[in-house]
Amino acid sequence: MSFTLAIVGRPNVGKSTLFNRLVGRKLALVDDQPGVTRDLREGDAKLFDLRFTVIDTAGLEEITDDSLQGRMRRLTERAVDMADVSLFVIDGRIGVTPSDETFADILRKKGARVILAVNKAEGKAGDAGAIEGWSLGLGEPLRISAEHGEGMDDLYHMLLPLQ
Ligand code: GDP
Ligand code: MG
Repeated sequence: MSFTLAIVGRPNVGKSTLFNRLVGRKLALVDDQPGVTRDLREGDAKLFDLRFTVIDTAGLEEITDDSLQGRMRRLTERAVDMADVSLFVIDGRIGVTPSDETFADILRKKGARVILAVNKAEGKAGDAGAIEGWSLGLGEPLRISAEHGEGMDDLYHMLLPLQ
């Protein structure tokens, strides 16, 4: 039996970078269809010897108007419903934003199983963000760098029991 992981969080925190790292190819480019917004991307993930399905919440970056909040909420809820566990990503260099708090509320209200990931934490860059992350009330923040592949061993250990 395998499991499904949903990567959620506000735009620009590094969700797609992590998705691409786990899936191992640039699925977004491969599948790009002009005129079609691909809201949720699904791929076969590999993390050391773990195999699972991963969902990326995409298609949010292009929208700048007031519909963004509602749209993010609906997409996030859909992804979380499809998943066994959600990886909630925040930007460790920026710390916790009001938008992050909105996402945390959505996840808490849904009673979702959540792992909090503090991304862009290569070197010591995410230290302050990781400490701030505790305030979201979602347990211990996991420091990762999607771009540089740091923290993947810790993520592996968090996901192992779900296998
Ligand atoms: P998304 O909107 O959440 O899917 O975020 P993206 O994956 O598109 O990444 C947003 C930006 O953050 C891009 O410029 C990435 O190169 C950058 N980024 C992603 N992960 C990391 C990381 O681990 N460290 C740093 N320094 N930058 C990152
Ligand atoms: Mg993205």
